[in-house]
Amino acid sequence: MRKPFVVGNWKMNTNGQQAEQLAKAMVQKLGQEDRVDVAVCPPFPYLTQVAKVLAGSRIALSAQNTHPDTKGAFTGEVSPTMLLDCGCQWVIIGHSERRHLIGEDNEFTRRKLVGALAAGLHCILCVGETLAQRRDNQSETVVETQLDDAMSALPSERLGSMVIAYEPVWAIGTGQNATPEQAQAVHQFIRRWLGDHFGDPASQHTRILYGGSVKPDNAASLMSQPDVDGLLAGGASLIADDFTAIVQAAISRA
Ligand code: PEP
Repeated sequence: MRKPFVVGNWKMNTNGQQAEQLAKAMVQKLGQEDRVDVAVCPPFPYLTQVAKVLAGSRIALSAQNTHPDTKGAFTGEVSPTMLLDCGCQWVIIGHSERRHLIGEDNEFTRRKLVGALAAGLHCILCVGETLAQRRDNQSETVVETQLDDAMSALPSERLGSMVIAYEPVWAIGTGQNATPEQAQAVHQFIRRWLGDHFGDPASQHTRILYGGSVKPDNAASLMSQPDVDGLLAGGASLIADDFTAIVQAAISRA
């Protein structure tokens, strides 16, 4: 049985005070929840501050991004070891906003995944197609290429330290979520890919999250799908009551 996992990606939102207040509200509502794994992803500057608020709770701290290397002349970048030092257990790798808005390619995403796993972070690898690619019936091909490029050279034991998030680009921040059936179809495809590359037991143990306009009113139907093991919420994770309702929907599946 895969334990549901709900992640809140705060993106480039909040100031220090708001980040602390939001983290406090999460701890109050969800801090002792053990039926579902929960993580929040504040912006870099507030990681240490939020880590202090989360200390002693069951909510994990995640970063939104990392550089692949541990140190060096990479002005403006943050390394996986720095993230560990700030109290992060998780990091998001390959979010579509990094791929499509910042221009990071599959090879850089692969290097980040390898670097973060080697440093000891757990990784949330995001994959997903654009609207044009979906209209072109390219969803599976795009996701397959992203998985191939990021993961096919990974040793299978690394799979235990990561989850995959299917995040169709057309659903992120648009209010237009994938239907539960659309999400299930791609999740099933991803699980099959995992089975082909890492074997059935590893594939059955790996959690696959859905992300893209997850809200309290669609969380339960998305979670009702057999291969949807959790949710990655952006906008809704900035409102403590909404994020709590999404976690509640995941609990009802647990
Ligand atoms: C995300 O940030 O990964 C995301 C899915 O955002 P939203 O929930 O706002 O669509």
